[in-house]
Amino acid sequence: MEKTKRHRFSARERKQVFDMFEGHCAYCGCEVTFRGMQMDHKVPLHIGGEDNIENLFPACRSCNHYKHSLGIEEFRKYLAGINQRLMRDSIPFKVAVRFGIVKHMGDKVIFYFERCEKPEALEG
Ligand SMILES: [Zn+2]
Repeated sequence: MEKTKRHRFSARERKQVFDMFEGHCAYCGCEVTFRGMQMDHKVPLHIGGEDNIENLFPACRSCNHYKHSLGIEEFRKYLAGINQRLMRDSIPFKVAVRFGIVKHMGDKVIFYFERCEKPEALEG
């Protein structure tokens, strides 16, 4: 299978992506360095996302890894299911919950870019 040719972004374009959220990952909100930032395709290329700057978000390595080839809503769904998967698969996690070391705070996932767009989404 032929590998899809990807656009090579210039340093200026990379800086534009970095500046979108002032050096924060668009998903979790952690700080990223210019060199450490990964450029994530919001709509993955394999499901028709375009390889241009409008389709890019700055992401930390971890979010880029876990989002992988998922679209934004699939990524949200994946994250929202983590507690359930841990309760099913991880004995240490279940023990930690039982002893009050870990507390489930909810499954609602609000991405950093959404908090930036609508700060009121955090309330309530
Ligand atoms: Zn992140």
